[in-house]
Amino acid sequence: MPADHPGSVSTSPPADSASQSAGSASRPTGSASQPAGSASQPAGSVSRAAGSSRRQVLRAAVTVGAGMMLPAAALKPTPAYAASAQYDVVVVGSGASGMTAALTAAARGLSVVVIEKAPTFGGSAARSGAGIWIPNNEVILAAGVPDTPAKAATYLAGVAGSTVPADRQAAFLAAGPEMISLVMKNSPLGFRWMEGYSDYYPERAGGMPNGRSIEPDQLDGHLLGSELAHLNPAYIPTPDGVVVFSADYKWLTLATVNVKGTAVAAECVSRYLAATLRGEKPLTMGQALAAGLRAGLLAAGVPVWLNTPLVDLQFDSAGRASGVVVTKDGVTTSITATGGVIVGSGGFEHNLALRKEFQQQPIGTDWTVGAKENTGDGIAAGRRAGSALDLMDDAWWGPAIPLPGAPYFCLAERTLPGSILVNAAGVRFVNEGAPYSDVVHTMYQRNVISPDIPAWLIVDQNYRNRYLFKDVVPTLPFPDAWYQSGAVFKAWTIADLATKIGVPGPALQATVERFNGFALTGTDLDFHRGDSVYDHYYTDPAVTPNSCLAALRLPPYYAFKIVPGDLGTKGGMRTDAQARVLRADGSVIDGLYAAGNASGAVMGHSYAGAGSTIGPAMTFGYIAANAIADS
Ligand SMILES: Cc1cc2nc3c(=O)[nH]c(=O)nc-3n(C[C@H](O)[C@H](O)[C@H](O)COP(=O)(O)OP(=O)(O)OC[C@H]3O[C@@H](n4cnc5c(N)ncnc54)[C@H](O)[C@@H]3O)c2cc1C
Repeated sequence: MPADHPGSVSTSPPADSASQSAGSASRPTGSASQPAGSASQPAGSVSRAAGSSRRQVLRAAVTVGAGMMLPAAALKPTPAYAASAQYDVVVVGSGASGMTAALTAAARGLSVVVIEKAPTFGGSAARSGAGIWIPNNEVILAAGVPDTPAKAATYLAGVAGSTVPADRQAAFLAAGPEMISLVMKNSPLGFRWMEGYSDYYPERAGGMPNGRSIEPDQLDGHLLGSELAHLNPAYIPTPDGVVVFSADYKWLTLATVNVKGTAVAAECVSRYLAATLRGEKPLTMGQALAAGLRAGLLAAGVPVWLNTPLVDLQFDSAGRASGVVVTKDGVTTSITATGGVIVGSGGFEHNLALRKEFQQQPIGTDWTVGAKENTGDGIAAGRRAGSALDLMDDAWWGPAIPLPGAPYFCLAERTLPGSILVNAAGVRFVNEGAPYSDVVHTMYQRNVISPDIPAWLIVDQNYRNRYLFKDVVPTLPFPDAWYQSGAVFKAWTIADLATKIGVPGPALQATVERFNGFALTGTDLDFHRGDSVYDHYYTDPAVTPNSCLAALRLPPYYAFKIVPGDLGTKGGMRTDAQARVLRADGSVIDGLYAAGNASGAVMGHSYAGAGSTIGPAMTFGYIAANAIADS
């Protein structure tokens, strides 16, 4: 790799160069698209363009490095960055959208490079549970899920609404199944149906109470060889000794009180033992997804340059995206894209300025669980180039507990029976079992009426005796640090708990008593918890008459601080049905494509089902690469 890196005296190879050679045998990359004068080098090799002096390059590096980025109007060639490498396609970001785009481009015979800011690959996708919402994919159809294109179209139109153009919704639904098939064909990834993981609005037309989401099969990490060391770690790494799928999580929370829960726990252990006996490194969820996509890229000879952040986009004199400016080993250089640039650099969850500019208060960067490199660099570059932005006020929200070290994205804990959410007035304000994104939307809407940021999750000892809470097994005490951080409180009476968290005691007492009455009758007259099939996904089947509702009677009581967390933001560049980036007037920025959280979500302000971020991210990466190949 770079033998003559512009502006550098001695150059280091990209971080993955060793592993790249392992996988680069199968296909020559882009020799047809080599710039004049470099015909003898393989695509991706770096050569200094004739006439670009070291001083020019350094001067330009200083300019960009100082943050004086190209203004939107200045879509001009930037000769100081004359091509140091050339590909048909440059993909920015190695997450769900980026690696799928690169895999597709390679499968279509294009030369492609992935540039990645982090020292690891996988982004938020590697951290994730890797639920994937793709209606009518071959995996669920083979499993007998009674999905149809008409059902999916009706359902998506209902949840995404008119915010999202119908042709984008249709493009997602049409290409999603093709994308899954392509990934299965061109990588070691297989997928499994998450049976029973209901769509988030199953009662709406086209909704599926038994679910249509999939997740990756178990994958042997050794397939990646030494590149496994560069896999971005999981948000909460699976402990040694078990192999856990996303779909197991529901049952593991019930492992000590439910026969199926115990059986699933045992199965997790036996999967691990079997994999260990086979000498494998078992990966599941986001770790399997990212590793599997990366393995596909290795086999196709697609380089992934780690530690190589996008600095800006480049445009030719006709205004067409012609490449990217990056930093590599502290040196600013450029990569030419003859076919197009696909921005898959994730959201802006870790960019405080953008969050404050676009999102509702209170907001910050401490409550997100998204990959820390997701600072909206691609969105900002697109904006400078004239892209319109959509959905910037929104995110893939979910209630989170600000535990010391990292926020905890709270799924089952919020909806298991024996829990309620209250606001600063000590009263309930939402159906605790509603989809996580909706709960936070309600928090923001209601916060102006009666403060519910932070809100409080209240549970009793009966709840604590029955259910796993994060990784703390039932009955065991929570870590002292949780209490010391002010995220968790414990008291022997509701009145004392109210005092500790600063809400009116009589109001909290009345709230608990009223809720206990609902638990007895099985009907939540206030917020209808349990009316939807979805509400029952993370609950306890042993609790009757309504598995979502149990009385809070057994002291001590616990309160957990709840803040608006997120899995990442969902607003970004406006794109069309071909993932092409659009200006506000609807015109296309030629050669520029965006997918995943760098683009406005096809879900609009909603969340159709488990996997509604990764499914579309991968699909629009696939669509973008195909659009380039077709053009
Ligand atoms: C804990 C957790 C659990 C989740 N569970 C699910 C789930 O089960 N199902 C689901 O659908 N979604 C889930 N999500 C959300 C999902 O992971 C993301 O929405 C999805 O990965 C977005 O894909 P993406 O390609 O846009 O971004 P990412 O996967 O985050 O990839 C973006 C990549 O771009 C890189 N990058 C950023 N800036 C630059 C730059 N300047 N130059 C080069 N590279 C750059 C980043 O480092 C990153 O590698 C979860 C997220 C988290 C954190």
